[in-house]
Order: sequence, then structure tokens, then C-alpha cells
Amino acid sequence: MMRITMIGTGYVGLVSGACFSDFGHDVICVDKDAAKIEKLEAGVMPIYEPGLDALVATNVKAGRLSFTTDLAAGVADADAVFIAVGTPSRRGDGHADLSYVYAASEEIAKAVKGKTVIVTKSTVPVGTGDEVERIMREGAPGKEIYVCSNPEFLREGAAIDDFKRPDRVVVGTEEEAAKEVMRAIYRPLYLNRSPILFTARRTSELIKYAANAFLATKITFINEIADLCEAVGANVQDVSRGIGLDGRIGAKFLHAGPGYGGSCFPKDTLALLKTADDYDTPVRIVEAVVQVNDARKRAMGRKVIKAMGGDVRGKTVGILGLTFKPNTDDMRDAPSLAVIQALQDAGATVKAHDPEGVEQAAKVLKDVEFVADPYAAADGADALVIVTEWDAYRALDLARLKGLLKTPVLVDLRNIYPIDEAEKAGFDYTSVGRGNGL
Ligand code: NAD
Repeated sequence: MMRITMIGTGYVGLVSGACFSDFGHDVICVDKDAAKIEKLEAGVMPIYEPGLDALVATNVKAGRLSFTTDLAAGVADADAVFIAVGTPSRRGDGHADLSYVYAASEEIAKAVKGKTVIVTKSTVPVGTGDEVERIMREGAPGKEIYVCSNPEFLREGAAIDDFKRPDRVVVGTEEEAAKEVMRAIYRPLYLNRSPILFTARRTSELIKYAANAFLATKITFINEIADLCEAVGANVQDVSRGIGLDGRIGAKFLHAGPGYGGSCFPKDTLALLKTADDYDTPVRIVEAVVQVNDARKRAMGRKVIKAMGGDVRGKTVGILGLTFKPNTDDMRDAPSLAVIQALQDAGATVKAHDPEGVEQAAKVLKDVEFVADPYAAADGADALVIVTEWDAYRALDLARLKGLLKTPVLVDLRNIYPIDEAEKAGFDYTSVGRGNGL
């Protein structure tokens, strides 16, 4: 059993903390957001993540998981302190904003007592660990502190399973004492045969960015192939299957859609470009990926407008799905934002449904009416657009939807309906990379 303190109780910190406590470790989750901690103490989850409420409740009840705003108290007796605070894009230049990481590091340095491993779980640019180590040396001189990197690869919406059954755990440290603690923390995963990859700290930091940039590239690649499919009369879903069955390519992340969004890919690809610039080693493929994806999100708005006959002024569009992907309430950089903006700019009125995202969406969307079910989004609208592929949208009553719409225009940006089914239901159906009739 290890004593673990998690600094930052957001999507990553809360899931990691809850899972570590479920492994049997003693975990304190710290956040400076008092409202968040109050909610957690009352058993209310501050985010939507499937299974999280039950996992937290079980471990709180077992006395292995607690929450506090008092960082110093949490850090004093810890074997390992994980930094899981946000690293958003810095306003203006796109570098990762490390101010939260450094502020947390300074507070940790003041509070550390005995031997402690400081673990950066936040996604941070190469060299950040060196700076955290400097802060520790200055703030806690003479203390036995090891700073290592342990990037997180979990996906929102499947976070608990990803955390407990990761493809790999990456730990960046060359210190045996730190490796020992990290091995003990992740020991329960050996049962699932998840390998731990020990690397140098800088290498580990770069692995996270390389992984996200590669995945973003894969998505962007298939999105461009989808556009080509539309032009030449091919079907991108069949192309994906045809290439994905090749083991060297792999079937995952080959679903054409409205472009990637979320709290990680947009900011991490941008931050990688900045690092590459700083070291005079451009990563041109990633530059292209960022540009293509940015342009694509806006283009999806135009695709909807085109499907509606080219003029949407005074018309109403129903949107299904706002979050950047299903099973989360996360709205950060969601493609829906760009699509809705483009529609509103062209004079359309938008009403929208999302199973879990409305509370977050209401903070970032203006002049959108939120409705309680998918059919209400279609009711009286001139078109219905599927933006996020929630399970709840996969088996809609198409006949009923068509009856509710003013004109039967269905734009499916996630390709969740077979073309013949949508057309049989009488829809004027547009999807991505599947020329109609293919
Ligand atoms: P988040 O915004 O949900 O959570 C960050 C939390 O840190 C907030 O609750 C904030 O109040 C708290 N915080 C900030 N400064 C603090 C301080 N000094 N002391 C205590 N608490 C503090 O962010 P997130 O989505 O969990 O992401 C955290 C990191 O993990 C980022 O670097 C992100 O890139 C990385 N990451 C995220 C995901 C994901 O799917 N969300 C996946 C892998 C990696």
C-alpha cells in the first residue's frame, strides 16, 4: 500500500485517484476549487464519467479515498505526489500554459517532509520535469525528492477501464528509488499484463505528445480520404475497413467525421508544434494536421448549409450531440462549437440536445435552445444534424423524426446510419465520405 496524493481533481486526477484507491492505495485528492471538493465530499461527481460515482463511493466508504483543499496536509505524509492540474493552451501563442504546474510545484516543495516521488501526470512539454526538479531543489533544499514523468493515456468516456487496463504505463525516470515507488503503485496492473515502460524523463514527456499527434494524424488522414471519397464516388467506411484490417495500420481511429476536438488533441498538437519550433526541428506533418483539422470544423458548418439548399437565414437547425465525443460532458474544443457558430453566422436558429453535456454547453454556447430529447430537436426544424455519436442516437425512430421535421434533411456527421435506411425513411440524407447511394 502506498500513500498517494493527487494534486488537481479534474478528469484525470479524479479518475486516477479513484482507481489508485481501488487498487488498495491510500489516496488524498487535492483541488483548489473548493466547490469541487465540497461536491465530492457530498458524494456528487463534478464531471460525468461512466462508473465514476460508484467507484468513488466504494473507496470513500472503505476509508482509502478522501478529498481536501489543503495541499500541505495532503503532501506531508505522501510516498508519491501526482501533479494532475490542467495544461491548457496559453492564450496568444499556443504553448502549453505551465503556470498551474509550476504553482502546484512550489506549493508541494513547501509541504514535502520525508522521501517523496513527485510525478507529473499532466501532459507537459519536454523539459518541464527539469524545471519542476529545480523548483523542488530551491523550495525544499536537502530533501529526498525524485521528480518523474508519468503521462496519462486514458480516454474520457472510458476512463476507468483505460486506467485499469492500459496498453502500457510510461514512467520517465532514471532513479532506482523512484522506479521502486512507481512499480509498487502500478503493481496491481501486472495482473492485467500491462507493461511498464521506463524511459528517460524527457523521452517520457515526448511520448505523450508523439502519441496524441499520431492519433490526431490518423483521424485527419481518414477525414481527408473521406473528402476524396465524396469527390470520386467511393465509400470511406469501406476504405477504413480495407486499410484497417492491415495489422500495420490498425482499425482504430479511422472513423471519418467532423474533425477532432476535446481537451487534448487540439492543445497537444499545438504545443508539440511550439516545442518543435523552439528546437528548430519542424514537424511538418503535424503542422498540416492542425491546419486541416481547424479548417474542417468550419467546413462542416458549410456542409450543413449546403445540405439545406445553401441558405439557412431564418431557418431552424436541430443539433444532436454537443460534447466532443460520447459518454462525457466535456465541451472543450468540441466540433459542435464551430458547426453551431457557422450556422448562427449564416442566420440560422439552433436548438440542441445532448444527454450529458448541456450544463457545460450552456457556459460556452450563446443563443442556443437546449431541448430535453432528440425528437424535440427535430420538432419544427428545417434540418437535423448528428454531431456526436451518442448511443442514444443510434436507433432513433426515423419515421417519427421525419414527421416532426419541417423538411426531411438529415446530416449525419458521424456516419451512424446506413444510407439505404435513412433514404428509405424518406430523408434527404448527407453523411461524410459516402457519396449517396454507395
Ligand atoms: P481539469 O481541468 O479537468 O482538472 C484540473 C484540475 O486541477 C482543476 O480541478 C483545477 O481546479 C485543479 N488545479 C489547478 N491548479 C491547482 C493547484 N495549484 N492545486 C490544486 N488543484 C489545482 O483537467 P484534466 O482534463 O483532468 O487534465 C489534466 C491534465 O491531464 C492536463 O495536462 C491534460 O492534458 C492531461 N490529460 C488529460 C486527459 C483527458 O482526457 N482529460 C487525458 C490525458 C491527459
